[in-house]
Amino acid sequence: NIGENRPSIRQLDDAAINRIAAGEVVERPASAVKELVENAIDAGARRITVDYADGGKTLIRVTDDGCGISGADLPLALSRHATSKIDGSDLLNIHTFGFRGEALPSLGAVGRLSIASRPEGEDGAQISVNGGQMGAVKPAALNGGTVVTLRDLFFATPARLKFLRTDRAEAQAIGDVVKRLAMAEPFVQFVLRDVSGEGAGREVFRAGAEQGDMFAALHGRLAGVLGREFAENALAIDAQREGLHLTGYAALPTYSRGSAVAQYLFVNGRPVRDKLLVGALRGAYFDFLSRDRHPAAALFIGCDPTLVDVNVHPAKSEVRFRDPGLARGLIVSALRHALAEAGHRASTTVAG
Ligand code: ADP
Ligand code: MG
Repeated sequence: NIGENRPSIRQLDDAAINRIAAGEVVERPASAVKELVENAIDAGARRITVDYADGGKTLIRVTDDGCGISGADLPLALSRHATSKIDGSDLLNIHTFGFRGEALPSLGAVGRLSIASRPEGEDGAQISVNGGQMGAVKPAALNGGTVVTLRDLFFATPARLKFLRTDRAEAQAIGDVVKRLAMAEPFVQFVLRDVSGEGAGREVFRAGAEQGDMFAALHGRLAGVLGREFAENALAIDAQREGLHLTGYAALPTYSRGSAVAQYLFVNGRPVRDKLLVGALRGAYFDFLSRDRHPAAALFIGCDPTLVDVNVHPAKSEVRFRDPGLARGLIVSALRHALAEAGHRASTTVAG
């Protein structure tokens, strides 16, 4: 009789549920950094500092000067599906990086997380959660903003810990995440430090807050992140079609690369890895590059949030456009136009 051996259905407890969710949201230290920096940006921070030790495996600390969290709200911030960013009534109209209220409880389930925060005009407070065990809210001394400290990521899920790569590789991935987010927020200062071992730590990356209009600020930030050479060889892109606005910089074909490393795509400020958009970028350069060369570009598509679904992927790195052909067409035509114009300018300069 099969029925006798049938296992009964059980409701999992919160700690188990959070560990399962963490498996999707937090793949490695860099994904934790991404979630924490996005929270700082959502909080309106103007300065964000990321410290890590041992490739982020033992320590990740994100300090911001954003709006802060009230002491009374700290336990909620650590609760699953609790968010200040949406009210749940319109999942197609999202203006923030976060909206699912999953990052902090997930990180608290698989590591040792503590949050100290102080909104303007309030006292500072802190809370800790270790492997899903939440402590009490206590007073904390800090000037303002929020400090989130994550120690021993994945200590509660040893299987995941085993899959991490070398400290060097994990640190590299953290750097990539911070630089990508820094490209999307040129008016915000970013500092990244490796604080492994003794001493004050080593600054890995710094981008001061840029000034001026959006294009000037973006150009300055791209020079800082991708290098002067990219900035000097980049064409400004600014085109619009049926509610989609494409901006950014695309490099001249002569600055192309042997691999697709220098392709950065953003949708409503969110870094994405999207086959459709990468394909459009390739298509735009098709007549200008040989097959083994790859274009370099940092492109930003802005649109009404209702024209794109960001709730497709746990790490939110994929998006779905309501009209994919429109996004593709806009990229291809805007870049071809800019490249053709630059080519024309170059040939007339040589001739003249
Ligand atoms: P989400 O970002 O999807 O809302 P999180 O779990 O990342 O979910 O964060 C939960 C809540 O905690 C946020 O909605 C926000 O209210 C608060 N929060 C998290 N980080 C910060 C921060 N750095 N500054 C201010 N508030 C924060
Ligand atoms: Mg978040």
